[in-house]
Amino acid sequence: MNSQDIRKQFLQFFESKGHLIVPSAPIVLKDDPTLMFNNSGMAQFKEYFLGNAEPKSKRIADTQKCLRVSGKHNDLEDVGFDTYHHTMFEMLGNWSFGDYFKKDAINWAWELLTEVYKIPKENLYVSVFEGNPEENVPFDQEAWDIWKELIDEDRIILGNKKDNFWEMGDQGPCGPCSEIHVDLRSEEEKATVSGKSLVNNDHPQVVEIWNNVFMEFNRKADGSLEKLPAQHVDTGMGFERLCMALQGKTSNYDTDVFTPLIEKVEEITGLKYTSNEIATISEEQNKINIAIRVIVDHIRAVAFAIADGQLPSNTGAGYVIRRILRRAIRYGFTFLNTKEPFIYELVAVLANQMGEFFPEIKKQQNLVTNVIREEEASFLRTLDQGLQLLENVVSETKGNEVSGAKVFELYDTFGFPKDLTALILKEKGFSYKEEEFEVELQKQKTRSRAASEVSTEDWSVLIPGNVETFVGYDQTENKVKITRIRKV
Ligand code: ATP
Ligand code: MG
Ligand code: MG
Ligand code: MG
Repeated sequence: MNSQDIRKQFLQFFESKGHLIVPSAPIVLKDDPTLMFNNSGMAQFKEYFLGNAEPKSKRIADTQKCLRVSGKHNDLEDVGFDTYHHTMFEMLGNWSFGDYFKKDAINWAWELLTEVYKIPKENLYVSVFEGNPEENVPFDQEAWDIWKELIDEDRIILGNKKDNFWEMGDQGPCGPCSEIHVDLRSEEEKATVSGKSLVNNDHPQVVEIWNNVFMEFNRKADGSLEKLPAQHVDTGMGFERLCMALQGKTSNYDTDVFTPLIEKVEEITGLKYTSNEIATISEEQNKINIAIRVIVDHIRAVAFAIADGQLPSNTGAGYVIRRILRRAIRYGFTFLNTKEPFIYELVAVLANQMGEFFPEIKKQQNLVTNVIREEEASFLRTLDQGLQLLENVVSETKGNEVSGAKVFELYDTFGFPKDLTALILKEKGFSYKEEEFEVELQKQKTRSRAASEVSTEDWSVLIPGNVETFVGYDQTENKVKITRIRKV
């Protein structure tokens, strides 16, 4: 089954259970000061759970574009190194706002996975919240009893507060969750170690696919819990991971969500990506694989963020996007030998692949392509020199901690985000003195405040001409600033 059909079936299934299907909210959030990017399906429904707004329907389902690169959920460091954490991913979700609760949610999740998608029951594990008396939260007996009717007891795992209890903040709605994990190991491997002991243990082939949160409590200011007057369900299933399970793969990158992008990178670079099925690969090939995974992952995050109105810039959410793109550019430059812009060429593949379901990527295709090409060209102008400087710094450093002032110079003069420099240093077994970097940064801020009150950081130079086009808003600190593309 291809990924388009997998997505469709999810939505049709919940539609058949009385859910209203709604579009994904934008990946970039403009009206939530607590969050830069949408990082889960529930973010757009927060006000319903808090009782501040009325949902259009008590049952809703959708797929949400999510980005986990900052704040509480930051998976950036894992991306490319594992095969199932992405920066941008789709979260399929179904919600009950004061309507159905655990019994229906669990039974429907089971029905969808085992009857519609036909995942063998022997490949599934579930987790139930074990309870935590110190924090005043009980064992989720109700979920346990429902699961017991569906699955062998030895496939039900007890989970701790970290993995199996969801809270929005120190106060407010909260409740236990039940996760579903899929075991994609080979039969031989399954015979050697029990899957149960591997669940939630970061085994690359025993992965969490679906989280079902049951909001039944309200945490009060004094820390105690009271039962909510209306109980809610909030679920999130990783779409790319589901595709991996249904397409019989052991890596998200071997599914049709990623293969067209990978093929394009192969075509441009003349290099080959090796699928996860190949057991032994050289160290050299492993580096190529990681670089390709990083690039095909990051292009999705960057392209969708731009399509949703967030241009790369030097501040706030825009800088997060610029950092992600520069990370991808450097992986290409160092490991795939790409010395010219090429990542922008992936936008057409993405638009072709995702445009039917997410029309914004098709609509903004030209803008996204041009912005990425310009960003690549501009960073490539300084990347080589910067890398050489870093090489020199490393060879002159005694010990394994380089000067923070040099890292600042790379940031200031060569456009190297500090986390990118840290990543390159880490590959060489080095780190840097962070306080020194911060001191230099502070000095520069004082200098530039004095020099100018007007920020022009969000202006991107695009195509020759003399027209200014309004393309969206950019939020920096507490101000909402208009971002324009200046065509010169
Ligand atoms: P994990 O433990 O694998 O990091 P999580 O517990 O942080 O996942 P949840 O917050 O429960 O994830 O999100 C719901 C679902 O979204 C997960 O069950 C998973 O399938 C998917 N998911 C979470 N993070 C990512 C990611 N970075 N890339 C792809 N899918 C993800
Ligand atoms: Mg996580
Ligand atoms: Mg988890
Ligand atoms: Mg989870």
